[in-house]
Amino acid sequence: MSKAASESSAATKVSSFVLLAIFIMLVVAIMALILAVQAYSIGNIEVAVYLLIIGFLGVAASTYVLFQTRQRIIRLKIETPPITTTIECRKCGFKSVREFQRGDYIFKEVEPCQKCNEKMLITAIYREVREKGKAPFPY
Ligand SMILES: [Zn+2]
Repeated sequence: MSKAASESSAATKVSSFVLLAIFIMLVVAIMALILAVQAYSIGNIEVAVYLLIIGFLGVAASTYVLFQTRQRIIRLKIETPPITTTIECRKCGFKSVREFQRGDYIFKEVEPCQKCNEKMLITAIYREVREKGKAPFPY
């Protein structure tokens, strides 16, 4: 698995845990609001006010956390464009492009050429940036 892919799956794992926490918080907050209405109907105004405050704080906090988590996931997705490795055959000029793998470096000898069986070299490693095209990776 690539670095970018493992990072995004970790983010999904974290976000599903956070979403569960938010869901529980929301349920508790709604229950507090329902209990506040019941307490008010019985005439227990003091308890109703406390429950109302707990309920509103719970809803506000869970909405805030949900918003923050969403923002962080969006930012993480934007900040990790895939890294691409270009491999070239010195003999016949055959070019192949694949996802960056750990341990890749420029002028590293990799698998033999599909056409002439000569050892191929890594000639470029770069990050895919959609707005600016292919920016060279400083190694
Ligand atoms: Zn070749």
